Amino acid sequence: MFLGLRDGAPVFGMGIAPQAAENLVGRSDVAVTELRGMAMQGTVPPDQLSAIAMAKSMVTWHQRHGFCANCGARTAMKEGGWKRVCPSCKAEHFPRTDPVVIMLVTHGDRCLLGRQKQFPPGMYSCLAGFVEAAETIEDAVRREIFEESGIRCTEVNYYMTQPWPYPSSLMIGCTARATNEEIIVDRTELEDARWFDRAEATLMLKRQHPDGLAGPHPFAIAHHLVGRWLHGGDVAGA
Ligand SMILES: [Zn+2]
Repeated sequence: MFLGLRDGAPVFGMGIAPQAAENLVGRSDVAVTELRGMAMQGTVPPDQLSAIAMAKSMVTWHQRHGFCANCGARTAMKEGGWKRVCPSCKAEHFPRTDPVVIMLVTHGDRCLLGRQKQFPPGMYSCLAGFVEAAETIEDAVRREIFEESGIRCTEVNYYMTQPWPYPSSLMIGCTARATNEEIIVDRTELEDARWFDRAEATLMLKRQHPDGLAGPHPFAIAHHLVGRWLHGGDVAGA
């Protein structure tokens, strides 16, 4: 897959089988590593990391879209990997991006964070969920928050986005203000959700909370949503 030009030189991404990757481990001229680890440890400059993330997302898309969704025939890669074309019905298929809202909800001097079962022990983060068909970002924020925590929201504002190539999400960071306080956790989605005050949230981001609670990792947009609230006052405008 053609990923673009860097300093005038073309950059390509390529998928290889897991076994082939294992055979590369230990070679001095090749680094074999995993994308999340690279992002967490900051071992690669941000501009290179974005190209690697792009390759990761594209490789996964090609792996999962070998057949035409319209007629079922095997499709072929075209235009340097940026589309697949069906030789039978001529349908064109493009890499998909799945929008996900991720939001920091505040109520006065507290913010709402939750934890999924698969999170590391003690870690809490912003609530998040996929935008549904024909839904606005604002509606998705209000719906997800209400479904997962029973909290109603107002003043939904956009903050920033982060591509999340696992395999193809675009995290849309938002803030909102809660209009009620009583949390009703949807246990099928979350293990827990609760309010945290600024002092606790500060310790969690620094990973110094006395009970071992932790906030989202610095490479995640959730970390920046919480950090901006801590440093810039109430992001929802109070
Ligand atoms: Zn077709």
